[in-house]
Amino acid sequence: MRPLLIAHCRQLLTLRGPCGPRRGRQLRELGIILDGAVLIREGRIEAVGPTRRVERHPLARRAEKFDARDYVVLPGFVDSHTHLVFPSSRADEYEQRLAGATYEQIARRGGGILSTVVKLRRASPDALLNQARGWLAEFAAHGTTTLEAKSGYGLDLKSEIKILEVLRRLNREGPLEIVSTFLAAHVVPREYRRRPQAYVDLLVRRMIPTVASRGLAEFCDVFCDRGAFTPAQARLILTAARVCGLEPRLHAEQLARTGGARLAAQLHAVSVDHLERVNRDDIRRLARANTISTLLPGAVFHLGKSTYAPARALIDAGAAVALASDFNPGTSPTVSMPMILSLACAQMRMTPAEAIAAATLNGAHALRRADHLGSLEPGKQADLCAFELCDYREIPYYFGVNLCRWTLKRGQAIYDATGRFQP
Ligand SMILES: [Zn+2]
Repeated sequence: MRPLLIAHCRQLLTLRGPCGPRRGRQLRELGIILDGAVLIREGRIEAVGPTRRVERHPLARRAEKFDARDYVVLPGFVDSHTHLVFPSSRADEYEQRLAGATYEQIARRGGGILSTVVKLRRASPDALLNQARGWLAEFAAHGTTTLEAKSGYGLDLKSEIKILEVLRRLNREGPLEIVSTFLAAHVVPREYRRRPQAYVDLLVRRMIPTVASRGLAEFCDVFCDRGAFTPAQARLILTAARVCGLEPRLHAEQLARTGGARLAAQLHAVSVDHLERVNRDDIRRLARANTISTLLPGAVFHLGKSTYAPARALIDAGAAVALASDFNPGTSPTVSMPMILSLACAQMRMTPAEAIAAATLNGAHALRRADHLGSLEPGKQADLCAFELCDYREIPYYFGVNLCRWTLKRGQAIYDATGRFQP
């Protein structure tokens, strides 16, 4: 295949710089090149720099050229927290919430996650696959090139494996890269309601070893919150997971502060997600930890709440902050990382530059893939997205409108509203 030269980008956001997740003021450094170019060969980035310099590269002469003067070009978004595979929306509960019922009241009536579980257990793998495939096309159309996806709507071994096998098929068929997380510790299933510890035992003794031995997931997650799992249960589950080779992540401090953030730091979890209810002590611990603090403002917005995670305090203290969509049918039905950036800026006072770095490079760190994703540097995978804009700050500035025009995964167009890329 011929090399590809993306030239004359109005702004090229490289995010080049030191390895390691971005913290503090470093989160604002986008490594912007005006009139920038990216040279791509065999799905990887060969050279990045000002167009006049990259054009002199020996490979550039025989490269196919794409003039990107109308675009702000940046690394594809790495969406490090989604629940991609689910059977249907929960628009009925959305309406109940608007009428005043809380998320937890709905869950106690058998709605919420458990209502999705009932439908998922009945759904065929092909139906789930087709639905997820449709959503993946939408992710690509909004600039996302890699996403993490969790199980957690099966809650028995057979149904959890059904979800993870769908994710494996989707990852193999591409074009998006999908990173699988085992989340059977999402909520205690109805059949174990009166004996939650027996469900924890089942997870530890049978489900985790089976999923790990079949290579169906890379991470294990626990919803550690009021009404879900306690920190003590989460510790047991995640310790067992690590023994089996599944690295820990947590949902924590969303509905109430229960100690999940502290646990994540103690366990050196890869990521701890939500964090709306963290206190000063948690922030101090997260600032010192290797754990990525992943914020999910889409869920706060969709639930109609006003308490967003304290992004400013986390960043200023030195925590490594990432942003993700939390795409799921109950609390955050969006695939749009640009919308997440808008919420991060308007509601959490992140700067546009911070939001972009949190949704690309720090997202890649949250998936342990920053060695080849999250920035535009030679040797990394050629995952790019382009917005028809004059300035990167317009990505969060405009909202409710999709200005992403093309997305490349490993150098191939996976979304192209211009019709200018070769099929
Ligand atoms: Zn989630």
